[in-house]
Amino acid sequence: MEKTAHCLCGRFCAIVTADPQRVTICHCEACQRRSGIPLTCNAHYRTSDVRLEGAHKIYVRDGQEGRKVRHHFCPECGTTVYTTGEKFPDLCMVVVGAFADPTYPAPTVSVFEETKHHWVVLSSGMEHYPQGRPPKWTPPLKNVGAAVAADRGGVRIPGDRGH
Ligand SMILES: [Zn+2]
Ligand SMILES: [Zn+2]
Repeated sequence: MEKTAHCLCGRFCAIVTADPQRVTICHCEACQRRSGIPLTCNAHYRTSDVRLEGAHKIYVRDGQEGRKVRHHFCPECGTTVYTTGEKFPDLCMVVVGAFADPTYPAPTVSVFEETKHHWVVLSSGMEHYPQGRPPKWTPPLKNVGAAVAADRGGVRIPGDRGH
């Protein structure tokens, strides 16, 4: 069954023809600045399951390790509806809010928790990652804070601010 996600003014649509592969919450700084809210909710679809309609522009930014992330947004109202990233080349992201559907499946994964706002409380049973979800699946980290400290010596890598 098709579902349509669209921008605020309705000119730019992403039409999905299958269920999402997963739904994630992202707390990264890029998502925070792009959306204007402290976290984003993104549905990951196979790229072949989504078609775009309407005029849009693409904002390209550097993700981790120089991989490009491409935000597709409406030039009229500025809403980002659709994003692709080189980390997961067969997948794309549609912002869940653009469906405006309160019955949409809940997120099951929370990423970039190292920049999660302190007041955010998530439902139980989610997978948690200090940064992005690894390209190859590995078990979730038990202790996010300790894992970040161990991986990075507690030091943030400059420019490493989002997926
Ligand atoms: Zn628009
Ligand atoms: Zn993000």
